[in-house]
Formats: sequence, C-alpha cells, structure tokens
Amino acid sequence: MKKIFYGLIICTVLASMMPENTVIPVQTATAKDWNQDSYWFAPWGKSGVHKGIDIFARKKTPVLSASNGLVIFTGNIERGGNVVAILSPKGRIHYYAHLESVATQPLTLVTQKSLIGTVGNSGNARGKAPHLHYSILRLMPNPAEITLEKQGWKRMFYMNPHLLLTSEQSHL
Ligand SMILES: [Zn+2]
Repeated sequence: MKKIFYGLIICTVLASMMPENTVIPVQTATAKDWNQDSYWFAPWGKSGVHKGIDIFARKKTPVLSASNGLVIFTGNIERGGNVVAILSPKGRIHYYAHLESVATQPLTLVTQKSLIGTVGNSGNARGKAPHLHYSILRLMPNPAEITLEKQGWKRMFYMNPHLLLTSEQSHL
C-alpha cells in the first residue's frame, strides 16, 4: 500500500510540473504503422467499437511506455491477451494489449520509453498480424468528446491516441 501511496504522490507532483507528452509506444514505429481512422471504428468484434489504435510491428519488437507513470495492472485477459495498464500523471490509463511478453510488474514507476513488453498477437489477436493495441482511458470523463456515433457517449472516457501521438502539443 505504501508503494501505491508514494507512487500517487510522485505522479501528482509530476503532473503539476509537466504537460503529458507521449511517445509512440513501439520502438522504431512511425505514424504510418497504424491506421489513423481506426479509433472508434465500428463494427469491431465483440467490443462493437474500436477504442484505440493498432500499431503494427514485427513480433517481439520492444513496447515502450508512452508516458511516465505507475504500472497498475499486468496480466493475461481473454480479449486483450497479455496486457499492461499504466496510470499517467494526467490521470489517464494507458492500455497496451496483445503483447507477446510483459516486461514490467504492478506498482513499478516507469518513465517515458521504459521497456514494458514486446509486440505480439495474444488474446483475440491470435492468428492475426502482430500489433500493439493501444488505448488511453480518462479517469476524468470529458463530456465534450461525446458524439452520436455508435457508443458515442463512451467517448468521454477515452482519448484518440492518434491525435495525442501526432500532435505538436501532445498535452491535449
Ligand atoms: Zn486494437
């Protein structure tokens, strides 16, 4: 518990000091390695809507933390396969899925570009081209994001990673 407490304090201090700039979380990947229209694409499998982007890369390419933060979950889940979730200073949860391997553990403080795993096709990406599924969830909902699209109300709980990764001022 102490570790979480100190982690949150450090995150809060970091948040007050710096904007959240993010880096592309797959080593050597560029914006050409994902489809910029894939965020909120529908229909999309069992989730109905695609709430992130898929960054394609060779299997076992290093996955790096897009932001500073505190690892709050690692594990294997049905759809996501091997996943890592990191709480960033801005109160956002960065979610990395379909990993081949996980290289961090809960309650670890990571900095931008820390190695957290490798690209794979675990979970419901099995049999598909290896890619990193990357989503950003907001702990503080933003009602301005709501649209009339399918599941559009849920957009207030998410961010478009494409915009964040390609914006000059990435602290949207
Ligand atoms: Zn995806």
